[in-house]
Amino acid sequence: MQITPIPCLTDNYAYIIYDNNSKTTGVVDPSESQPIISFLKKKNIKLNYILNTHHHFDHIGGNIELKKIYNAQIIGFEGDKHRIPGIDIGLENNQKWNFGNSTIKIIHIPGHTLGHICFFFEREKIAFTGDTLFSLGCGRIFEGDHKQMLASLNKIKKLPRETKIYCGHEYTYKNAEFCLKYDNNNNDLKKKFEKIKKLKSQNLPTVPSSLEDELKSNIFLRCDQKDLKIKLSMKNQEDFKVFKKVRDLKDSF
Ligand code: ZN
Ligand code: FE
Repeated sequence: MQITPIPCLTDNYAYIIYDNNSKTTGVVDPSESQPIISFLKKKNIKLNYILNTHHHFDHIGGNIELKKIYNAQIIGFEGDKHRIPGIDIGLENNQKWNFGNSTIKIIHIPGHTLGHICFFFEREKIAFTGDTLFSLGCGRIFEGDHKQMLASLNKIKKLPRETKIYCGHEYTYKNAEFCLKYDNNNNDLKKKFEKIKKLKSQNLPTVPSSLEDELKSNIFLRCDQKDLKIKLSMKNQEDFKVFKKVRDLKDSF
């Protein structure tokens, strides 16, 4: 399974997934068609599937044109069929779906939008988390509420630690600055920041991250941790209140 991040718009990533054995190709969240077409032409491969994590324009913008050119099938959340352009196959929470020889499990993770899903490749341990979990961050809460978003992040936290995390945007550097502001003596975070700075200086993507790294360094995944609660002077507060506080701080960062 080969995964290639394709930078789109200003800071979006679409991902080309290519399974060499079955010669199956998919693209996750094509915000525009042109960069995807260029890549496929260069590699001389066709597109079989378009996978959408959620309905926002910067994740579905290339759907219709790519479908027209390649006759690709569009896969998304059943509950969002009315707002994912060109959708062919609607999948439900926990449903499994075959991509070539691989199995994808759909995990419904509402909060950023109500119909947001994660595509989890079970055997390969690869998760496409869209705008729900970013490297060192999480998405803004547009349609859901904080409880929902926290519950969704907790679902992702239960995946195997070695899971590779491919997210929807290159926000990592700015996210790291935010995490460092409120979680400043976290050594794992400091180490991760050094790696990020290096990648940034070479103009390389900071994706994928790993769930292991995120659990140690992403402040939004640490809202249940005592040491973080103490840092935020919220020692005996519920996880969800700590999460809301951190999300609010990030909104005005
Ligand atoms: Zn979005
Ligand atoms: Fe987005």
